[in-house]
Amino acid sequence: RSGRSAALRARMEERLLGARFRYLNQQLYTGSSRDAARLFRADPAAFHLYHRGFERQVRRWPERPVQRIVRYLRRRPASLVVADFGCGDCTLAASVRNQVHCFDLVPLSPRVTVCDMAEVPLADESVDVAVFCLALMGTNLQEILGEANRVLKLGGTLMVAEVASRFEDTHAFLKAMTQLGFRTVSKALSSSYFYLLEFAKTGPARPGPTPGLRLRPCLYKRR
Ligand code: SAH
Repeated sequence: RSGRSAALRARMEERLLGARFRYLNQQLYTGSSRDAARLFRADPAAFHLYHRGFERQVRRWPERPVQRIVRYLRRRPASLVVADFGCGDCTLAASVRNQVHCFDLVPLSPRVTVCDMAEVPLADESVDVAVFCLALMGTNLQEILGEANRVLKLGGTLMVAEVASRFEDTHAFLKAMTQLGFRTVSKALSSSYFYLLEFAKTGPARPGPTPGLRLRPCLYKRR
């Protein structure tokens, strides 16, 4: 009998965690990067809960998108300096020989520099590769990608991995990226559920509205 109630309690706790994860996830995708920074600064426990939920989600996928970025970097010189925006547990930094600047809101690893990705403590044109792996969460995409443009050297690489269903209009998105100073080098739909996009920096971002720069929130279903 007590075994049954313990199992019931575990199931209820699991449900509650799932519900909190989905709620936090929705907040991250429907607010600005600054709102996200405020949220996690006020409640670091929420961040750890979010990451537990994220890990559980990612384990269901056939491949972790970050592994694709690891493979990409291993094919290129290890001397390239990398910035990982929204690094999570720093899997990327731990898997390559490159110098990797890791940015996230709360340190899951001692490698992390805590900051809002819209404002990273790097000099202009100081990195060769900027990475957003499932990390384009804030609604202020223009500002976030503008920051990546600022820290990238001319000709530098921007890698974006995002869930395919987030793209409403891929063509319009890529057109907006041109205005932000990024030329599309390659666009691959990987394992049918995420896009791997590679861009090269052509120059500074041009000011002005970019209506095509929109991604749907990535909301997870209750299971
Ligand atoms: N890139 C990692 C983690 C992806 S989860 C991987 O592929 O495994 C998305 C990460 O972005 C989370 O760790 C989240 O905390 C971070 N993030 C979300 N908004 C952020 C912001 N405004 N500034 C910095 N990091 C942010």
